[in-house]
Amino acid sequence: MSARETAELLLQAGRLVQAEGYDGELSPAQWMALRFFARANPFSRTPSAFAEFQATTRGTATQAIKALEAGGYLVRQPFKTDGRSVSLRLTSKGKKALARDPFEVLVRAVDSLDATERTAMRRALHQVLSTLATSGAHRRFGVCQDCTYFGREMCGNLPSTGPSAAECLLLGVPIQPEDVGLLCVHFQPMNEHRKDGHHE
Ligand code: SF4
Repeated sequence: MSARETAELLLQAGRLVQAEGYDGELSPAQWMALRFFARANPFSRTPSAFAEFQATTRGTATQAIKALEAGGYLVRQPFKTDGRSVSLRLTSKGKKALARDPFEVLVRAVDSLDATERTAMRRALHQVLSTLATSGAHRRFGVCQDCTYFGREMCGNLPSTGPSAAECLLLGVPIQPEDVGLLCVHFQPMNEHRKDGHHE
């Protein structure tokens, strides 16, 4: 199969999922925003990070966010360490809506592949996204465990902190275990040889 045909399949999968979004209670842009704020880590739950994630303008991103806030799906609060910026989080209505997310169709389709195929697909898509990010102006998002700034200190002799403590070497802050798998606006992919050694 040619590279063009594979790229067309990728686009088609994205388009089909996008089209599913038109049937629900929210527009595709609003679903995208809801999904993003459910998956973003505490440093990335801002309108500007969402605009970067969606590769769109701040104005377009703000429109989707405002509609979600007006509908009671999202709520904004001051960011803990910086009173000037805001952090957006899902309300219980937002979390309930997410359970009906049209994107789940794609999650189930990927889940129907066997483990080897899923791992191969994940690696291949990581590679494609990295190439796109270096050739374009848009930032690539990713999770701590694939990030070059992810530091994990072994401290088994400190019972209060557990067997290991994770830290962001870029921001100089600890990373909570529940945040390790969340998307980050500051993400930098680590070297290929480390990525190869990583398991899902
Ligand atoms: S380690 Fe990387 S992905 Fe995690 S918070 Fe720091 S910059 Fe973001």
